[in-house]
Amino acid sequence: MTENKTKLLIIGSGPAGYTAAIYAARANLNPHLVSGLTPGGQLTITTDVENYPGYENVIQGPWLMEQMASQAKKVGTVIHDDIIKEVDFSKKPFLAIGESNKQYIAESVIISTGAQARWLKIKGEDKFKGYGISACATCDGFFFKDKEVAVIGGGNTAAEEALFLTNFASKVNIIHRRDSLRSEKILQERLFKNPKIKIHWNKIVKEFKGKDSPRELEKIIISDIKNNSQEEMDINGVFIAIGHDPATKLFLNKLKMDDENYILTKPDSTETSVEGVYAAGDVKDKIYRQAVTAAGMGCMAALEAEKYLSNKN
Ligand code: NDP
Repeated sequence: MTENKTKLLIIGSGPAGYTAAIYAARANLNPHLVSGLTPGGQLTITTDVENYPGYENVIQGPWLMEQMASQAKKVGTVIHDDIIKEVDFSKKPFLAIGESNKQYIAESVIISTGAQARWLKIKGEDKFKGYGISACATCDGFFFKDKEVAVIGGGNTAAEEALFLTNFASKVNIIHRRDSLRSEKILQERLFKNPKIKIHWNKIVKEFKGKDSPRELEKIIISDIKNNSQEEMDINGVFIAIGHDPATKLFLNKLKMDDENYILTKPDSTETSVEGVYAAGDVKDKIYRQAVTAAGMGCMAALEAEKYLSNKN
């Protein structure tokens, strides 16, 4: 079994992980980063990115992540193409074991394993992801100026995304599987008052349809759960807001989490319930979920790890 000893182990390779790596490497911590199942994280399944500062023109999500990885490597991060399968935070130094059977022995750890949007898993969804179907209105809403869009879901995310989308879209349809919303009452009042928003109660989406070339979503088929009647709607943009799952299975019963299994950190800090272990990005954030906020938290985590290590030594 290969052993890698490091001052700082970073688990996960989205904007939070790579930013932590860049800061830690430049502080001479010689960090090791384990990429995980989807190197580059959620941005590798998006297309156009227009809200990451520093780029006047639209850039591609996968390209941005390649750049972050190259930058992290260039300043001295050791990147492992491996998936952590087990961690032990009960004693120091901390231990993580990869599926490759490599052992990572670390004085401090930054967890940046992210979260995955839940998808409907219905016909046409994979085909039009990034071509009309999105899981982030803040990221992609702008592309639907003066077009009719739909938001699927009835929680806070769906409500906030629908309200945000009224800034661009000509009409916003909320499609919800029940006859009442789960979101906060104040958001519900705003939805009901907004003339651009129409809520379709007791409806589920059955299928997405569109053009092959250029690939573009054109229609959704929705079904009434009470009488099974179906209708076709002309829709160019669909925002799926049925929740996210943080990638925290590995840390259950090892770190404090909230009731949705997001890692809890101290106020204004990325420090978890275990001293020397930090969490940054979507794995601890269910509100902002942006590449730039994740990157910011990665920076915070690296600075906090550096301070912890220098106090310790
Ligand atoms: P939620 O789990 O709160 O809501 C998910 C919604 O999607 C529910 O209305 C649910 O329906 C619906 N849904 C789930 N699965 C399906 C499916 N397969 N088909 C159709 N509909 C489905 O997720 P959110 O992302 O909205 O919120 C997650 C957490 O983050 C919550 O705690 C929320 O309060 C918090 N949050 C807070 C914000 C803030 O404070 N500003 C902003 C955004 C989120 P049903 O209601 O029938 O279960």
